[in-house]
Amino acid sequence: MKAKNLVAVVLSLFAPFTLAKPSTHWSYEGQGSPEHWGDLNASWEMCKNGQFQSPIDIRQPVNGNLPALEINLHTKSQSIVNNGHTVQIVVDDDDDFMLDNQAYHLKQFHFHTPSENRIEGQTFPLEAHFVHANQNGELAVVAVMFTEGAENPAITAILNNLPAKLNDVKALQKPLNLSALFPADKHYYRYSGSLTTPPCSEGVTWLVMRNNVTLSPSQLSMFVNALKHANNRPLQPLHGRIIVE
Ligand SMILES: [Zn+2]
Repeated sequence: MKAKNLVAVVLSLFAPFTLAKPSTHWSYEGQGSPEHWGDLNASWEMCKNGQFQSPIDIRQPVNGNLPALEINLHTKSQSIVNNGHTVQIVVDDDDDFMLDNQAYHLKQFHFHTPSENRIEGQTFPLEAHFVHANQNGELAVVAVMFTEGAENPAITAILNNLPAKLNDVKALQKPLNLSALFPADKHYYRYSGSLTTPPCSEGVTWLVMRNNVTLSPSQLSMFVNALKHANNRPLQPLHGRIIVE
């Protein structure tokens, strides 16, 4: 799949304004569960045949002295939706960082509970995915793990704006301050992987923050209640990939 198509797929998959649903229903339970994704739709065959799939268990990273990520946070959040797969915030294309001499801009971010990736076998109660694209349409996802602890003001703002009904798109009047969703120390693990939802397209650069942020136990249970079910794809085999930090 060409990179531009990949972005189109990602945006259409997640776009809250798209009323047409994918023709095939996928989910995290029952007939549409992750072990069946690759058989549900011919264009989702990477879900079962891909060799560089996400999520993974991040173990024994190679020290590549990667510098901390410098993210410019000036996101103009546009809207929020609970689409039944995840809680997602669509943004106005403003937030960015440089990677391999290219600018990556934030398109949307969303949440998984429990976490999809693991770090040294450890699972986390919540993982945020910040989906970025460069001008060629290549994707980089910044992942942040949450632990239970102090209340997170950015999560409060998201939960306060959560639409009551599935697939209702709520416009955000005030921009969200995303800084509390990122750890102060932005060193990360890097690996090459895929989308963790159908069509499971590969060529996605994953930047998983080494450090965590917190949310309170009651914030976590509000998230779990909103999602109604776990929305984490199971771990995928590494197939010889190297993880760099
Ligand atoms: Zn995700």
